[in-house]
Amino acid sequence: MKPIETNKPNLNGIDEEAERREILKRYRKLMRIAKPYLKEGDAGLIKRAFKMAAEAHKDMRRKSGEPYIFHPLAVAQICVEEMGLGATSIAAALLHDVVEDTDITLEEIEREFGSKIARIIDGLTKITDVEDSVTSSQAENFKKVILTLAEDVRVILIKIADRLHNMRTLESMAKHKQLKIASETIYIYAPLAHRLGLYSIKSELEDLYLRYTSPSVYNEIVEKIEQTKASRDKFIRDFIRPIRKALKEEGYKFEIKGRMKSVFSIYQKMQKQKIPFEQVYDLFAIRIILDDVPPQQEKAACWKVYSIVTDFYLPNPDRLRDWISTPRANGYESLHTTVMSRTGQWVEVQIRTRRMDDIAERGYAAHWRYKESGVQVKKGGKQSLETGLEMWLNRVRELLEKNGTGAIEFIDDFRSNFFSDEIYVFTPKGDLKVLPQGATALDFAFEIHTDIGKTCIGAKVNNKLVSINYELKNGDQVEILTSAKQKPSIDWLSFVKTSKAKHKIKEALREEKRAFMKLGREMANKKLQQWGVPCNDRTYEQMRAFFNEKTVADLFYDIGSGELPITELKRFKEILETKGARKGQVQQMPVKKENKDGVEQPEPPKKKQPSDSILIGDDYMHVPYTLAKCCNPIPGDEIFGFATANEGIKIHRTTCPNATELLSKHGNRVIKATWASVAEESFLVGLYIKGTDRVGIVNDVSKVISNDLKVNMRSIAIDTSDTLFEGTCTVMVANTEALKQLIEKLKAIPGVEEVKRLDY
Ligand code: MN
Repeated sequence: MKPIETNKPNLNGIDEEAERREILKRYRKLMRIAKPYLKEGDAGLIKRAFKMAAEAHKDMRRKSGEPYIFHPLAVAQICVEEMGLGATSIAAALLHDVVEDTDITLEEIEREFGSKIARIIDGLTKITDVEDSVTSSQAENFKKVILTLAEDVRVILIKIADRLHNMRTLESMAKHKQLKIASETIYIYAPLAHRLGLYSIKSELEDLYLRYTSPSVYNEIVEKIEQTKASRDKFIRDFIRPIRKALKEEGYKFEIKGRMKSVFSIYQKMQKQKIPFEQVYDLFAIRIILDDVPPQQEKAACWKVYSIVTDFYLPNPDRLRDWISTPRANGYESLHTTVMSRTGQWVEVQIRTRRMDDIAERGYAAHWRYKESGVQVKKGGKQSLETGLEMWLNRVRELLEKNGTGAIEFIDDFRSNFFSDEIYVFTPKGDLKVLPQGATALDFAFEIHTDIGKTCIGAKVNNKLVSINYELKNGDQVEILTSAKQKPSIDWLSFVKTSKAKHKIKEALREEKRAFMKLGREMANKKLQQWGVPCNDRTYEQMRAFFNEKTVADLFYDIGSGELPITELKRFKEILETKGARKGQVQQMPVKKENKDGVEQPEPPKKKQPSDSILIGDDYMHVPYTLAKCCNPIPGDEIFGFATANEGIKIHRTTCPNATELLSKHGNRVIKATWASVAEESFLVGLYIKGTDRVGIVNDVSKVISNDLKVNMRSIAIDTSDTLFEGTCTVMVANTEALKQLIEKLKAIPGVEEVKRLDY
């Protein structure tokens, strides 16, 4: 993703000499940081790349007004400083926007720097001519990036560095661009960074996403972290003190610190558990990093530290995680325990060596560096870091080879298959299979062989009989049971997780459908011949209309599969006989199942067009729009417009659960939307209320609402159980300010503990 830049030469009297010095200063800084990673000849390569990039971008500026070359320099610095990549990547990072944005061609790059760097640059150069409304250009471009991942992981790493710098400098972009870029980031790039083990980059991307999409939420959390800092620091100091002392006495070299949870993960926790900031109990973790531990002793040393920690604090046995014996699939290694502090608070303690910490923070690249430098870590299990990542990459490659689908489907596939955590399961012979978390026995069957999948009737998991939709767990040993009589059915699609199983089931269903259609046509023809009616398209069309089928193919399918009993065809014959004279006009008869129960769908209520509460586009135009049902915006909410294919412009909140997907896949359809300063209407909002039950509480709640002149109550439903009550009500309000005031008033009612806006 390149930032928007202007090609305007610099005419506003910037001191060019000072700028030149600044560029050189930044280049030297890059070289200084890179130095420890460079081999002979590397410095020359980087210098040549810098010269070419600086020359090519010399008349370009970023949105912020800075010289464009600052961007590639910063991306290169991220590659070396935060990912630990080497000279090839640094050179490629410096050149990453050259082919896309300047006159330099890929051939010139290849001539100057060789095919390896040229391939990487090619992978990083956006496809520009796929802009149409059907496919998404972003999706196409992302697919291209992933395709090159199969060849060279560095393409992805540089792409992530590029994205990180663009997110860090998002401030100078227009609001709707910010939303689009931020959404893409959370949808694809942050999970990808996570999957490659780039933990700190992933956290930073997520935090930046929140900062630009929900600034108020972001600022509120940041403020609260700041406010509680002093007391937290004291707590951490007290907690650490005895551990520090004991570790010193044992002669360990170590670093111990309190690690704050990221803003985004605090936000997620608040959302998921529906709790305020104050109730997030694990705001931080204690991390102990051991230095100078020989590779063979790493595991033993970590467990020794565990033993020291639990001498002081009681551990919670349910919360022990040993990622050292079995590292996570993204390579993460660490020993986690949660212990009870002396003030009765649970505290997570993470124990690891410096090597593990480096890999945890900087991921894939750090791993390769350790591998190159010859550090070998002996592992008992089959799932060492290397095989975990390698297996993942191999599965990505496998999907890429098979995938012939559209770009958007590809991304969905990619996301559901490659960003979820993985489980390791075994065949009866002990062969290891890797499946996404949530995979079922049926996924496993398809993983082994398509025919085994198609005829699967159940499985034995650890010698116990289970059904085909049984969800597998890490370490399960699975034996698949088959029957020649078994056939794939449509409901299988609801519980398989892998794209492989999904594709194969759909394929089998299509085959079956074709077979039924063929059979149905033969059966129908036989009947028609018996009656002496010609078997031609006109007859088929009449029959289709008579049985109220969508297509002739559907008609044959229903006959073939028995859905439409062959005896029913008689009724068509009778009609033909009575109406024979009026050719081509066959009366429709309600025979299809949808109509049997006679339930009439009520007319959807007419949507009231909110008059001119929202202005669309940069020119603040009055254009028709509708408010999205999924997030129900009201004046005061941060919003954006989205041009839909059939329903015109829809207005969503930037915090809408669907926003991320819309923005990242179809960013080109996003339109700026602004609330008009005076909105005359009221807007429907749902509220969630919770508290302790007492006589008259419902009355009090409704009184507060109906006494509020600015609010109109539409409905209220309250449930009580024992001493608690919980309920929802819908109200009409003018804007977020009025809503905020109402929520405050409701919260002030004795017994009411929580009041929240509901998002539909
Ligand atoms: Mn770039």
